[in-house]
Amino acid sequence: MIYELPSTREGMSSAKTRAMIETLKERIPLLRERLSDCTLCPRACRVDRLAGETGFCGLGAGAVLARALPHYGEEPPLSGTAGAGTLFFTSCNLRCPFCQNYRISRERLGEAIDREALAGRMLELALRGCHNVELVTPTPQLPAILESVLAAREWGMTLPLVYNCGGYESADVIGLLDGIVDVWLPDFKYGREADALACSAPGDYPQRALEAIGEMIRQAGERLQTAGGIARRGVIIRHLVLPGRVQNSLDALRLIAGRLSRKVPLSLMAQYTPIPPVAGDPLLGRRVTREEYEAVVDFALDLDFENLFIQEVDDQSLVPDFDREEPFRWEQGSGSGGQGPG
Ligand code: SF4
Repeated sequence: MIYELPSTREGMSSAKTRAMIETLKERIPLLRERLSDCTLCPRACRVDRLAGETGFCGLGAGAVLARALPHYGEEPPLSGTAGAGTLFFTSCNLRCPFCQNYRISRERLGEAIDREALAGRMLELALRGCHNVELVTPTPQLPAILESVLAAREWGMTLPLVYNCGGYESADVIGLLDGIVDVWLPDFKYGREADALACSAPGDYPQRALEAIGEMIRQAGERLQTAGGIARRGVIIRHLVLPGRVQNSLDALRLIAGRLSRKVPLSLMAQYTPIPPVAGDPLLGRRVTREEYEAVVDFALDLDFENLFIQEVDDQSLVPDFDREEPFRWEQGSGSGGQGPG
């Protein structure tokens, strides 16, 4: 099957695409092997997903996709003017009670999709002019997703591949993606074990995130490489400021600055919006205040982070409605912000 894809300034050279195809062919079997005793993420459920067993994420061996759409609300180097080509994959290896994408991550909205159909969705996003192909929460489905990335690359897709994940990752799995992923977009959610445990993750979240993001920076470098303002290679670390947990944010920033990098772009998100399941919670049931958010931004400036993405603190609800054709109804063509997974 041959697709006439528009040439874009974001596209890779054919030599780089060929090298990426060879790397994919080599690494997919290594990742697929892990499914039989699953250690794709630090949960290490050690279930045989090839035999139909399921672990914490509840997923089998195939891909399950919730939505694929141009997304205009990511950081400007990702959304640009034509949108990030975002694929929202079902389930997650965390269980954040406040996740803005809870219909997908917790309620597992989505449908099984085969290799060619998923590759076709990637090509559709390229044909619509998106600047990249962005995989959201891909780790638990990695072997199947990469099979489709391989097919899309073989069919002519040359856009950068963005890996948007929650930060609870195994550094050795991230290492197997060297030469495959162009732009890393991890969360660093928790700077303290206690906050990880209180919210959504095992207590080793900070250590696992440090190891995994350290490997991402080793691969892609500290500085974001762009062309025409669009990310081509690099890492953007996201941190969502939570209501009532400023100290968690300060500790997270201290770890990033001290153990990772002050040069790597840091996206500080103020967009926390209570979702219905936490509406009555004394902390999670409210927005972040301007004072809380500014305390975190000021601390980032004190730590000398060189590249910050920041947001306005306002009352706008930023919970996507995945029952609608346009889940991010507030962002039509806006091209700014930072609306990622919760
Ligand atoms: S990917 Fe899923 S089954 Fe595998 S270790 Fe992680 S949570 Fe467990």
